[in-house]
Amino acid sequence: MDCYDLTAMTWKEVEESLKTVQFAIIPIGAHEQHGPHMVESCDAVLAEKLAKKLGERMYPYALVTPTVNMGVSPHHLNFPGTISLQPTTLISILKDVISSLKHHGIEKFLFLNSHGGNQSTLNVASMMLTKELDVEIYYAKTTASAKKSIQENVTSPLFGHSCEREVSEALYLAPELVRPESLEKGDINEEGRWKQLRPGKAIQGFYYYEEMTNNGCIGNATKASWEIGKQIVEESLDNLSKELYQLFHLKVEAHS
Ligand SMILES: [Zn+2]
Repeated sequence: MDCYDLTAMTWKEVEESLKTVQFAIIPIGAHEQHGPHMVESCDAVLAEKLAKKLGERMYPYALVTPTVNMGVSPHHLNFPGTISLQPTTLISILKDVISSLKHHGIEKFLFLNSHGGNQSTLNVASMMLTKELDVEIYYAKTTASAKKSIQENVTSPLFGHSCEREVSEALYLAPELVRPESLEKGDINEEGRWKQLRPGKAIQGFYYYEEMTNNGCIGNATKASWEIGKQIVEESLDNLSKELYQLFHLKVEAHS
């Protein structure tokens, strides 16, 4: 299937693609610890793989840009290997990417983000840069919209990082990210300040990941499978592409 993948195109090919391209997909990940059974590039690789699959679904309307392969991860810094950008750095990178692409005529953008720690920064970036650069900016979590598949397959009360959901996505999209012989459940600290600060509580605040989990993951990665990953990823792609066709008033007929 076709996908306009900017990193693999010549300028002549880009020029030709711009006759139909309506928006750019900017994959955004992180470089952070993912427990004992996943490598640190996980979020960046998953964002990129998903962006290319979405680019295929949205062909010839979408152009997939290079991946922003580091993100806002200060909560993981006490595990070896994590690299964290400051929120202002991430916003600056996105500003430069968008203003460059606007120079080429693209005025609509989707941040396709795989890392929860980036979400609040992307919200701020979309507010700031929409006005500053006079463009349209949208953002989405890669697989958060796969509510049905997640509900059917994910049973852990606490999940979302190197858990059965994320490991399944990797087994489907990029199995080289996973160390199958090392799969572990999250080693959760049952006591701790983090419990009072989880989403849904009245008071929110920053806490370090090791306050919540000793081995750096949550959920139960031993339940992950290729099949679950396929369900979650494909449901997400269905939802994302459907909403993009509506949002940008695109004709589905031209897709095939
Ligand atoms: Zn991750």
